[in-house]
Amino acid sequence: MAKLSEVPDPKVQDDALHRRGLMFILSSPSGAGKTTISRMLLERDAEIRMSVSVTTRPMRPGEVDGTDYHFVDGETFDRMVEEGHFLEWAQVFGHSYGTPKSQIKAGLKAGHDFLFDIDWQGTQQLYQKAETDVVRVFLLPPSLGELRRRLTTRATDSADVIADRMARAQAEISHWDGYDYVVVNDDVEACYAKVVQILAAERLKRARQTGLIGFVRELMRPE
Ligand code: 5GP
Repeated sequence: MAKLSEVPDPKVQDDALHRRGLMFILSSPSGAGKTTISRMLLERDAEIRMSVSVTTRPMRPGEVDGTDYHFVDGETFDRMVEEGHFLEWAQVFGHSYGTPKSQIKAGLKAGHDFLFDIDWQGTQQLYQKAETDVVRVFLLPPSLGELRRRLTTRATDSADVIADRMARAQAEISHWDGYDYVVVNDDVEACYAKVVQILAAERLKRARQTGLIGFVRELMRPE
């Protein structure tokens, strides 16, 4: 990638210019497909990487420490809060979750994008701290019936368990208006395509294309 100091050849494509990375927040109630869309983005887009959160919740089967989360105890989490290690943190369903500052600041400057799977509280905090770096996307399920179907993971789920999942999902949906973009996920590939379009447009924002200054100066140089 060309740096500001290395004025590129004007023929160079604009997407080769240096740009500042962005914080891409993908939130949704569970059952709206956030995990699937996140996985597709991480697999198919080489420029985006996951922001791995720190949490006090116990590890679930199949999860990997350092990949899914950094799993810590409550004492360690509290110390990290006190020492200012987090960009944001929140209590979600009885456990603490936080976004570590390390890597993100330097990564953004170097032009890397970060994908965040955080709730609405974390989204608000990140937006307050770093508004211009943040892009907020919310996914919605296509209907209440489909949400119920997706939240009924096993035939053996009791009515109470499903009602509890539905109530949590609806509480999360109530925060839909705190986002820049809202995508209804009725078809995974179509939803993914829309998310990719949002990302592509946001990457092209003038303010993020820090390499433009030198590039345009060269284009305007008297011949
Ligand atoms: P889970 O325990 O199911 O992985 O995540 C529970 C909730 O915590 C999800 O809504 C997820 O988006 C949220 N979450 C995960 N990491 C963070 C974080 O670093 N900060 C905040 N605010 N929320 C998080």
